[in-house]
Amino acid sequence: MSRNNVLLKVILLGDGGVGKSSLMNRYVTDRFDSQSFHTIGVEFLNRDLEVDGRPVTLQIWDTAGQERFKSLRTPFYRGADCCLLTFAVNDLQSFLNLSCWKKEFMFYSDVKEPESFPFVVLGNKVDMERREVGEDEARAWCEENGCCPYFETSAKDDTNVTAAFEAAVRVVLAAEDQIGHALLGSTIDLHGNRKTSRGSCC
Ligand code: GDP
Repeated sequence: MSRNNVLLKVILLGDGGVGKSSLMNRYVTDRFDSQSFHTIGVEFLNRDLEVDGRPVTLQIWDTAGQERFKSLRTPFYRGADCCLLTFAVNDLQSFLNLSCWKKEFMFYSDVKEPESFPFVVLGNKVDMERREVGEDEARAWCEENGCCPYFETSAKDDTNVTAAFEAAVRVVLAAEDQIGHALLGSTIDLHGNRKTSRGSCC
């Protein structure tokens, strides 16, 4: 991370198997593996990028398979700037479970302003022929639940993956601009806690 970068923590949440690790790996390493990544147990990966002229280090946290135990550790949620709620378009149950994941996130995270916390929703595996969730249905859920924007993605075909992560950065920066928070110079420790050292880099 360069000295002037804004560090943003985003977390991928959703049922096991919907493609969270694959999306993270596609975005950071530009690779897709048809085998699951769970054995690797990666918790987060960083990627530097520039969005609308602003240098950003995106720290993407993945559950590393622990969502199968239903309750995740608090450090996973702590300090998150954006939550990417993920389902697979060929798996209705994973779509129906989005509400549970959103509730779980709100319960365990340390979000100060729940009303304005940014969510992005990803309907993954759009390369699959058989769908159980329509795009209109997904968009309607997002509108009703205040979780916008919505992206139809494929980690396999690299559809909308970059667009989705960049949109997450944009919604966070827009929200931060609105409430006047300074993220510059902050770091996130291994327990997921954000530490702000204002003035260190500006
Ligand atoms: P996670 O449990 O949510 O992290 O899901 P994984 O990333 O481990 O993916 C579960 C399975 O779905 C793996 O076999 C992946 O190769 C596959 N997968 C992930 N994303 C896609 C996708 O966009 N399209 C297709 N067809 N398969 C995918």
